[in-house]
Amino acid sequence: MINYHLAREELVDQLERKGIKDNLVLAALREIRRHEFVPTNLRARAYEDSPLSIGEDQTISQPYMVARMTELLQLHGTERVLEIGTGSGYQSMVLAKLSDRVFTVERIASLAKVAKERFERLELRNVVQKVGDGSLGWREFAPYDAIIVTAGAPEIPNRLVEQLAEGGRMVVPTGPRRVQDLKVVHKKDGRITTTSAGGCVFVPLIGGGGWQE
Ligand code: SAH
Repeated sequence: MINYHLAREELVDQLERKGIKDNLVLAALREIRRHEFVPTNLRARAYEDSPLSIGEDQTISQPYMVARMTELLQLHGTERVLEIGTGSGYQSMVLAKLSDRVFTVERIASLAKVAKERFERLELRNVVQKVGDGSLGWREFAPYDAIIVTAGAPEIPNRLVEQLAEGGRMVVPTGPRRVQDLKVVHKKDGRITTTSAGGCVFVPLIGGGGWQE
């Protein structure tokens, strides 16, 4: 029998050593049971700091990357957050703990369905999800105080910049298909500034604002 609680504590200690500083983010990762977001046969590896396969050629992101991207969004509990790439739903739950409301979009229906069942079982009431091409955003509920793209785009998707609220922040992996640069976009006084937060590797963002299939 694996002691998931202990394994999780050790993982979060490791993330702290790797430079994650936001205490709210660290607390969320201490609390959320990542092993419930991975296929049963991979549960024993749920607290390794690595991405894991979730089927359909997709992955649950590496915990360090989840923590780093969330930290960059600087959430305080009042934000409306748009997530592109629901995948397992793990990142959605981290966001749900730290913000007011999460809108999450996934293009693969079977993954969205499994994530939905998890949100229901975990009684997450502030997550709204849909199946669709999130590279074009989710106009109905825009603007968003924070946007997180958990798949790699060739360039920063225009529609997402448009749907960012004044004062808002977006994190999006951008660059060639195999390795990207984590971009941080700020909208201040209607102006866009972009900085880089280092290298990363994500599955491709596929759609109108991303790669062709
Ligand atoms: N945040 C997820 C990471 C999933 S990997 C987690 O914590 O598990 C990225 C996901 O983005 C994949 O599930 C993939 O299907 C999805 N994706 C790729 N392109 C997309 C698009 N245009 N719109 C919505 N989701 C997309």
